[in-house]
Amino acid sequence: MQIRTLVVLLLLSISPYLVHANANKLSKIVLDAGHGGHDVGARGSFSAEKDLTLGIVLKLGKIINDSMKGVQVIYTRTTDVYPTLPERHEIANKANADLFISVHINSTPFHKNRELQGYRTVKKGKKRYKQPIYKVTYDHVTQANGTESYVLGLHRNSQKESAIGEYSEGVTEEPGMLNENDPMTAIIVAQYAQSFLSRSVNLGTKIQSQFEKQGRASRGVLQKGLEVLAGSAMPGVLVECGYVNNPDEETYLNSERGQFEVALAIFRGIREYKWEIERQ
Ligand SMILES: [Zn+2]
Repeated sequence: MQIRTLVVLLLLSISPYLVHANANKLSKIVLDAGHGGHDVGARGSFSAEKDLTLGIVLKLGKIINDSMKGVQVIYTRTTDVYPTLPERHEIANKANADLFISVHINSTPFHKNRELQGYRTVKKGKKRYKQPIYKVTYDHVTQANGTESYVLGLHRNSQKESAIGEYSEGVTEEPGMLNENDPMTAIIVAQYAQSFLSRSVNLGTKIQSQFEKQGRASRGVLQKGLEVLAGSAMPGVLVECGYVNNPDEETYLNSERGQFEVALAIFRGIREYKWEIERQ
């Protein structure tokens, strides 16, 4: 077979998959409340991340159900339980969802303070030493504030690609039968990953601009090799909704109003994203 004929045939054979990769629909959204159960996540002075993420996710799901006709919400959890990351991926991939939104709350590391309290005398043989006495306290209060959205860093793309290969009906008729040694399959899968990444950045940008409109500080859209994003075969964003160890933000994130506003910002970002992809 001539090489040109071969190329044409190959392009023809993959074109339905490429169309599928740009399927302009948003009909199933997975909402993932970070942590849960024994995994409390970050702690503030009176609250824990796992409860705040669940509060926000349930509000977000309700807003989507009330205002986005034809869109199905799938939760990774609706109570205080801990699905493992593979279980969360499984829920999203089996549902063949179009979007994965993971909600988290930020915190900064504990800061260790040492305050000199005085000295004690220590005897060692005939020698005497003065030994300082410190009072050690852990300071966990931060002035850091605001929200950020994470998309999958490129270095985790091979895992993303294998997740796509395993579950996406467009890549192979038989899920789990992906032949990674087939170069054409690899090209299709890479296309998926590329398309998901740009969509994820697009969505993250929209969510961040909604937070800014509400007067929250935006720390931008960042890339990270996050396990929670790497295993799902669809565009996805992880939203850090504020700092639990910033006293003002902890109060805000615990309030009904605060949780509703956060959910609304994410919802409006998703709505804009939906309009945009459905116009394409
Ligand atoms: Zn978290």
